[in-house]
Amino acid sequence: MSVCQTCGACCASFRVDFHPAELAGGAFVWGEGVPVAMSLPVTAGIVRLCGTDDAEPRCVALVGEIGNSVRCMIYDARPSPCREFDTEHAACNRARQRHGLAPLP
Ligand code: SF4
Ligand code: SF4
Repeated sequence: MSVCQTCGACCASFRVDFHPAELAGGAFVWGEGVPVAMSLPVTAGIVRLCGTDDAEPRCVALVGEIGNSVRCMIYDARPSPCREFDTEHAACNRARQRHGLAPLP
């Protein structure tokens, strides 16, 4: 199991905005594309994953308990910002800290 499967902090810390072309039915989908129902329109060229801009952010696609066991419900279809984020990202430990998890070395 990867460390991310026991974490999930970044999916409950940051706004996740992406291009509508990555929505299901769009021109640049990964897998099946992000379900439209999981997104909110922001501008003509930007949509946002539901839940990621809440006062206590948590992506609607995140299943499980942060810091214990989590899963992305739309992993194969997750949008670019999620694909570009990993443990090498400087914001990884910021997200972990926000959720009371020890920083990764
Ligand atoms: S915050 Fe870091 S360790 Fe946690 S799920 Fe995101 S990338 Fe993985
Ligand atoms: S789509 Fe998946 S990887 Fe992206 S923020 Fe939501 S739960 Fe995390």
